[in-house]
Amino acid sequence: MSETAAEAGRRRTFAIIAHPDAGKTTLTEQLLLLGGAIQIAGAVRAKGERRRTRSDWMKIEQDRGISVATSVMTFEYAGQIFNLLDTPGHEDFSEDTYRTLSAVDAAVMVIDAAKGIEAQTRKLFEVCRLRDIPIVTFINKMDREAREPLELLDEIEKTLALDVTPATWPIGSGRQFAGVYDRAHETLRLLRPGNEQGGERDEKVTGPDDVRIDALLPHGQGDALREGIELASVYPEFELASFREGHLTPVYFGSALRGFGVKHLLDGLAQFAPSPSARAADARVVEPEEEKLTGFVFKIQANTDLQHRDRVAFLRVCSGRLRKGARLKQVRTGKSIPVNAPLFFFAKERQVAEEAWPGDVVGIANHGVLRIGDTLTDGEELNFRGVPSFAPEILRRVRLDDPMLAKKLRKALDQLADEGVVQVFRPLDGSQPVVGVVGQLQLDVLSSRIQAEYGVHITFEGTSWSTMRWVAPKEEGPQDRAALDRFLRSAPSQMAEDHDNEPVAFFTSDWGRRRAEEEWPALRFLSLREQH
Ligand code: GDP
Repeated sequence: MSETAAEAGRRRTFAIIAHPDAGKTTLTEQLLLLGGAIQIAGAVRAKGERRRTRSDWMKIEQDRGISVATSVMTFEYAGQIFNLLDTPGHEDFSEDTYRTLSAVDAAVMVIDAAKGIEAQTRKLFEVCRLRDIPIVTFINKMDREAREPLELLDEIEKTLALDVTPATWPIGSGRQFAGVYDRAHETLRLLRPGNEQGGERDEKVTGPDDVRIDALLPHGQGDALREGIELASVYPEFELASFREGHLTPVYFGSALRGFGVKHLLDGLAQFAPSPSARAADARVVEPEEEKLTGFVFKIQANTDLQHRDRVAFLRVCSGRLRKGARLKQVRTGKSIPVNAPLFFFAKERQVAEEAWPGDVVGIANHGVLRIGDTLTDGEELNFRGVPSFAPEILRRVRLDDPMLAKKLRKALDQLADEGVVQVFRPLDGSQPVVGVVGQLQLDVLSSRIQAEYGVHITFEGTSWSTMRWVAPKEEGPQDRAALDRFLRSAPSQMAEDHDNEPVAFFTSDWGRRRAEEEWPALRFLSLREQH
């Protein structure tokens, strides 16, 4: 086996998807603790707590050094290298999360045992499903009053149309939570009393009927557990292929706060989560073990150094070995990009590594050359697809107080669109630019950054538009192309170009959009666009 194949084979690159407050931060911390990447629980927490309020969020975002450092967390466990890609918690930044999910090979879905599937869990799950990302489920907060395991499992199965297989079965919940039964290993994992971290111990038993179970558990819980194990057997058996295709999720029960059940989860990830697999590019399918390097940029983060407008582009390596000092081809422009000081993200030691492998994420400092969706290669002409843009529903006209600053504003908007902070649209009638966002918070961030980093004061004006669509000819060929031209000319004030000069149309209502779709059968109206 080549070195590249071996290194790729031991990478596990994943993200955690969860509704805010389900316990993503707490779980992240526990995973890093198990991986030896941090010494004390609480290191990630500081960030988690500060994220809570809007004003605090702005502060932390301005202190971008922190978020760069925690965007990717690398740790080693069971001989494997885990790359955990962080996703922002606030739902206004869901686009950022969607893009991050394009760079992972698996996801952990955290569910609050009292709440079950929540809105954001569901949305993020749908994105995973679009890409058939395999999902391992962690039902958290079992040390609190929880819903019945059966009810939770059925809810996952029904609302997400996803097969479930309980890898462990919980013993009680809330104050009665005593631990879990590991079905595959016929082992009791018991919660140690008290509040200690990582408080668990294993007791091997011969099966559900072992009388030791009754001796080990508080009175009556043995029978309840037997009943539970019986119930668990109605779910399908774990099947690796089905999991890898995203059809079936193994479910673990635990308490991130008590450090309980996290090891089960990590062992599950180590055992089942896939190493980097082949990825489709426009020209061909790329295999991770190929010697030539390929990768794509899924995230850009502005640095703190305003003088130099330094930015860090996050590159997910898809194939080959990335060496420090390499020159890579930016396929979109044909430019050669030097990678002199790739940043690696080992939470434990911050040493600069000399190389990266498929599944790894490296930060490449640049002055604005790289943008989201860019493919980098050793010279080959190919583009990875799949970093998505979604049609925004909040559309605002940018108003500039000082017209002398129009050029500066243009540059600022271009750079922030490169970073994926907002989507920028330039109306075909030459009027002021329009920005599209998912939530109000993004607008606040946009205006405060343009003021702070470019010295330009802007405000936003409402528009009558409630939605937009990318417009493309249905078929390649002159006829549908001509239809697109006619469509765009039919109402230039309702049409614009996006950041990549792709045409878009604005609509004041869903009704208007549907009417346009009917009137222009030669055109496609798309709510999602994959950048390239
Ligand atoms: P996030 O928003 O998903 O990152 O959630 P956090 O990790 O910040 O957790 C939200 C709250 O739930 C915090 O107050 C945590 O202390 C608490 N929490 C997280 N996991 C557990 C758990 O297993 N049990 C209990 N009782 N509380 C938890």
